[in-house]
Amino acid sequence: MKKKTEQLNDKMDKLISLAKRRGFIFQSSEIYGGFGAYDYGPLGVELKNNIKKAWWKLFVTDRSDMFGLDASILMNPKVWEASGHLKNFSDPLVDCKKCRKRFRADHLLELNSAEPKHEKEKISELPQTCPECGGELTAARNFNLMLKTFIGPVEDEGAVCYLRPETAGGIFTNFKNVLNSMRARVPFGIGQIGKAFRNEITTENWIYRTREFEQMEIEYFINSKDWKKKFEEWLELMKKWCEFLGIKKENLVLHEIEDKDRAFYSKRTVDFEYKYPFGTKELYGLAYRTDYDLSQHQKFSGEDLNYTDPVTGEKFLPHVIEPSLGVDRTILPVLLEAYSEVEARSGEDDAKHEKEVVLKLPYELAPIKVAILPLSKKEPLGEIAHKIEMDLRRNLVVQYDETGSIGKRYRRQDEIGTPFCVTVDFDSVADKKVTVRDRDSMSQDRILISELRNYLNNKLIR
Ligand code: ATP
Repeated sequence: MKKKTEQLNDKMDKLISLAKRRGFIFQSSEIYGGFGAYDYGPLGVELKNNIKKAWWKLFVTDRSDMFGLDASILMNPKVWEASGHLKNFSDPLVDCKKCRKRFRADHLLELNSAEPKHEKEKISELPQTCPECGGELTAARNFNLMLKTFIGPVEDEGAVCYLRPETAGGIFTNFKNVLNSMRARVPFGIGQIGKAFRNEITTENWIYRTREFEQMEIEYFINSKDWKKKFEEWLELMKKWCEFLGIKKENLVLHEIEDKDRAFYSKRTVDFEYKYPFGTKELYGLAYRTDYDLSQHQKFSGEDLNYTDPVTGEKFLPHVIEPSLGVDRTILPVLLEAYSEVEARSGEDDAKHEKEVVLKLPYELAPIKVAILPLSKKEPLGEIAHKIEMDLRRNLVVQYDETGSIGKRYRRQDEIGTPFCVTVDFDSVADKKVTVRDRDSMSQDRILISELRNYLNNKLIR
């Protein structure tokens, strides 16, 4: 009998292999030996887009107090001076003098503990020897995570700029633009989805920590007197989001960050942690950042960023609540929660004694919504099936599969989480009906082709 941790790591290995085999996630630059990064394949990009679409709907377009934004990745370096990133955005780094491997010091502290450490400064407790080779470790020093590049043809100091380490910078610098152009009234928020870059000391755990990743971030501007109530509202919405993703309550840990471990300007921070197979680690963050950001940008830019309420006339510098979510970090729990192995589904195929994989993704997130499976390649079944395919493609992502036994084809679709399979058989010619098989209940309904699109849309679009 395997221990629970072994079973969990087994699950990670199976998931990574499935993701590659079925076109979700590939190693980046694989033919050149990789680059510690990952690429999303045809199914991965659908899953990722569905996550971003669902987030955008729940957090932005469903609300009258939210606006969207798509700001530049390369910004004036002063933005990062003002935000404190140039000075303080660093992690403590130690080197092994023998094998030359580099470690994030706070990650060494976590090695012997299942819990994430929030105290990066507890350097006195650091192990003295390398966990890989036993060699001596150097003292910890700070390593800035900003990725530098140059603008224009001359690579001198004046041309230095940075790839944004978070999307928030573009939100703060556009605060006044959005406020004025949208005639917004505080409280209101700005949401943005986009790439962020960090020169992480070590990349780890597949897509959990990479140097290039995507964020879904919100800055919600408030009057400071409302912060407690607004914080609770965002906390609830983030919980609702996690539930929508299929994250089980018992796998989610809400970690209230203690005073001494919070950034000095934050009055409350809650980390959403997930029980990954490799430990309980941060998934998302929710922070009340007071007026730190706008006051810094006001100071460094010289622009007046105060807000005057059009009704009460009250003038103040808005405070912010920041729900910050990683797209890639979302994909990992979504896949882990959805991955399930079931006993072979009898009567569907030859391989009755194998275990089968079913990816029980929420319908909204499934990359392929419907598979069209003609029982035979011969006409007229092919013609009928292609007609159905073209009709459904108008608003659904569809896959057409005519090879292999029907049981094998069902299994292929189960493995990638397709909610519905439509089988076109010889009876379809006369009765103009097809069989719709449900991924989870395996129920099979006979539906008139003329009603199929409505039937599926009713089930899939909630
Ligand atoms: P960590 O402690 O894991 O380095 P962090 O506290 O620095 O993360 P934040 O600055 O709060 O992370 O970033 C907001 C969100 O962006 C995180 O909650 C996470 O979802 C995502 N994120 C941050 N760094 C990475 C990364 N290197 N790879 C993938 N996602 C990331």
